[in-house]
Amino acid sequence: MLRLDREFWKVEICMSGVRLSPAVSSLKPSATLAAAAKAKELKAKGITVYDFTLGEPDFNTPENVRKAAVAAMEAGHTHYTASGGIPELKKAVCETYKRDYQLEVTPAQVLISNGAKHSIHNVLAALCGPGDEVIIPGPYWVSYSALVELAGATPVIVDTTEESGFCMSADQFRKAITPRTRLMMLNNPSNPTGATYPIDKLKALADVAVERDIMVLSDEIYEKLLYKGAEFKCFATFGPEVAKRTIIVSGVSKAYAMTGWRIGWTIGPVDAIKAMDNLQSQETSNPCSVSQYAAVEALNGPQQSVEAMRVEFEKRRNYVMGRLQPWREKFGVTFAEPGGAFYAFFNVSSRFGKPLAGGVVVNNATDFCTALLEQAHVALVTGDAFGAPGYVRLSFATSQEVIKAGLDRIEAFLAG
Ligand code: PMP
Ligand code: GLU
Repeated sequence: MLRLDREFWKVEICMSGVRLSPAVSSLKPSATLAAAAKAKELKAKGITVYDFTLGEPDFNTPENVRKAAVAAMEAGHTHYTASGGIPELKKAVCETYKRDYQLEVTPAQVLISNGAKHSIHNVLAALCGPGDEVIIPGPYWVSYSALVELAGATPVIVDTTEESGFCMSADQFRKAITPRTRLMMLNNPSNPTGATYPIDKLKALADVAVERDIMVLSDEIYEKLLYKGAEFKCFATFGPEVAKRTIIVSGVSKAYAMTGWRIGWTIGPVDAIKAMDNLQSQETSNPCSVSQYAAVEALNGPQQSVEAMRVEFEKRRNYVMGRLQPWREKFGVTFAEPGGAFYAFFNVSSRFGKPLAGGVVVNNATDFCTALLEQAHVALVTGDAFGAPGYVRLSFATSQEVIKAGLDRIEAFLAG
């Protein structure tokens, strides 16, 4: 277990002489966005790049949703809204959880924000501060540790393994708890591993949360993207004792291909939601009015497009797994099969210190990604960014053609 302590009092002076706050001076840019920007830079130079960096559906937002946005603009919904979101969207969120998970929530338990990333920031800013510890199963999504640190708290990373399907056990969770533990952050299905918790393992975590009275932030943004019979259960549905300790975060970005609209939500205890609404009212006023109306249609309208996109992601996932399988024997590449989300996460450390294509030798995943981009024009994200040295992440939320050509190139690169 790794405790990432930081020197909170340290104030750094940047090159221009502007004195930055302690919280911001140590903040790094999001590694996923940085990797995508690097790939874009090469593309702008006219180079064909096989880009697997961003976890962003390549599909257009469904037509009914786009039309609802136009209608909202025409109807004059182009002004500030209530800071915590329009009543129609809060109601749609409540109805969705009732319909999909038989979970009863009231609009006062719902906060609409500018994407799930903003929702996570709100939760951490509202609940955590200096001296608090936040348990995060690793590998973890890049922004988790950064946002915990931004809140002044300390991320406590609990490493999981391929053998466990990258799932944290109840025992690991229990052992990581200290008197300073404020929250556990769970991401199911997971970015970057695609891990999906079997319901019994999830229930065991919920039992520990109740037994030790720990709040759980359950990030369920990939809830609709499940493959090959993988199970999903909304964390708050394990009963009232679990529900009162759970804060659900989700949104429309992934399931409805609405990344650019920036709509996410938080569901939790009324007093915590009220505090986050206060914070949001000072920070951002409200989420984009037009996007909120579009999200109402996404949730209330026909759901066939969600399933159509999921089916396409599943085809891509199966293709990627079929290509990776022989790499185990051929190159010593290892991985756990993803049950959800749209990421393949594989360990390439067996190739460190040995010549890859062009005679290049690398000793870590970050250098591997840099060399792969330079030599083969394939962009992946280093596992170092997710607390998983030796691993790389490939987002298969891109076309079959790009996936095939990109994998051909990675294979040739590995072969040396
Ligand atoms: N959680 C996880 C695990 C993610 O991968 C993402 C992807 N951006 C988010 C939250 C945030 O999603 P968004 O802000 O686009 O709603
Ligand atoms: N969550 C996506 C990813 O991991 C989008 C980028 C981001 O917000 O970090 O690639």
